[in-house]
Amino acid sequence: MGVQPRRPRRHASRQAGTRSRWNPEPGQDLPRPVTQADPARGPHRSCRRGQVVVTAPAVERPGTAEELAARLAEAAGDRSSVVPVGGGRASEMGDASGRGDVELHTTRLDRVLEHSQADMVISVEAGITLEALQAVLAEAGQFLPLDPFNSPGHTIGGLLATAWTGPLRLHYGSPRDFLIGIRVAQPDGRLASAGGRVVKNVSGYDLMKLHLGAMGTLGVIVAASFKVFPKPLHDLTVEAPHESIADAWTSTERALAMPLPPAALELFSDGRVLARFFGSPGAVERMVDELGWKKVESSVWVEHSHRAPKAWARIAVPRHDLQRIVASLPAGAHWWASPGAGIVHWAIATGAQSVRDVRAASEAAHGSLVLLAAPPELRREVGAWGSPPPTLELMRRLKQVFDPVGIMNPGRFVV
Ligand SMILES: Cc1cc2nc3c(=O)[nH]c(=O)nc-3n(C[C@H](O)[C@H](O)[C@H](O)COP(=O)(O)OP(=O)(O)OC[C@H]3O[C@@H](n4cnc5c(N)ncnc54)[C@H](O)[C@@H]3O)c2cc1C
Repeated sequence: MGVQPRRPRRHASRQAGTRSRWNPEPGQDLPRPVTQADPARGPHRSCRRGQVVVTAPAVERPGTAEELAARLAEAAGDRSSVVPVGGGRASEMGDASGRGDVELHTTRLDRVLEHSQADMVISVEAGITLEALQAVLAEAGQFLPLDPFNSPGHTIGGLLATAWTGPLRLHYGSPRDFLIGIRVAQPDGRLASAGGRVVKNVSGYDLMKLHLGAMGTLGVIVAASFKVFPKPLHDLTVEAPHESIADAWTSTERALAMPLPPAALELFSDGRVLARFFGSPGAVERMVDELGWKKVESSVWVEHSHRAPKAWARIAVPRHDLQRIVASLPAGAHWWASPGAGIVHWAIATGAQSVRDVRAASEAAHGSLVLLAAPPELRREVGAWGSPPPTLELMRRLKQVFDPVGIMNPGRFVV
């Protein structure tokens, strides 16, 4: 809730105007929608206290990308701050913003715009949930290798804006590796597209990447195209408990060095190691036999993806430093790591100083510690992001170009 000087504002319950479905056009740009009438939504409250008006953010759910873009331009015009909201799964990530006149929810932008099974590409609106997208792909024997924590309920736009990844990052990389096109509503009211619907886009500036992990500070992602992957012929999960953490780390190295390495490999603070192998049945069974670990149901990955402690951080460091950084976590800490990717998620149960210490060690190793969620006081004390990057000045200039009035998610990201 924001406390702001009183000023006239439009009622949030505005006409949503139009709703769209996909109208394919020739060319490689993202498919564009055609429009249909649709009703309005989105109430907000306000009450007077002396000379100020205390307002909850106006909640709005545009039904089309065009409508959303027009709303951004309007907000820029009256200098209202805008917080884009997808699935709300990462709403505590970043610094507490303090301002937020309008919450622009993307949940009505939830259509599959185009899926070419043969070309293995899909274009979707940004408010579609990852689960809905996977269900469409599953019918074609395909999938998007994204398995973020704090699932279910992530939207594609939210995942791109936060750049969250899960255990499958080990084999498939992050969304930047399979995102091939993006459309963004900019604060000037324009819809900008970058990339397209084909895998081979190599010329020109790669503007897509600007919006990955930008936390919605440059614009609102309204659609995205991905190359997708065939479901593996065989998908087998094995686990091994360990008495000592040192033995568990050794096991992870052994698994990662297999001729067919795991698609995902997770190490837990209790010494358990979980590995997932994708491939032909013969190759996968051979790897699993060689490892000698116990087979378990692949549903363990779904349970794993539900993890989201009240206070948690993602630490990313060069792979070879991960074990040392994990050893620097407070005694008895709960964590889970992706040793092959150099990432550990830490469930923070200690005070601000312990976070500062681990962050200092991570940054000294040229890595980072980012708070994914934490009580407001901890976020205020240690900050969500850590030391400013050397590219800060460049980021400021980009922010100034994309969002000169500064309406997009003010105070949440480093710029
Ligand atoms: C027959 C064919 C097959 C192809 N197959 C593939 C494929 O399999 N996979 C794939 O990924 N791509 C493929 N492509 C795409 C091709 O690789 C790209 O078009 C190419 O890499 C970009 O080079 P260009 O000659 O098109 O553009 P260029 O003229 O090289 O321009 C590239 C970029 O540099 C800029 N630029 C050029 N000259 C200057 C300059 N002097 N100063 C500043 N900026 C400059 C341009 O504005 C543009 O943004 C194919 C293209 C063709 C024609």
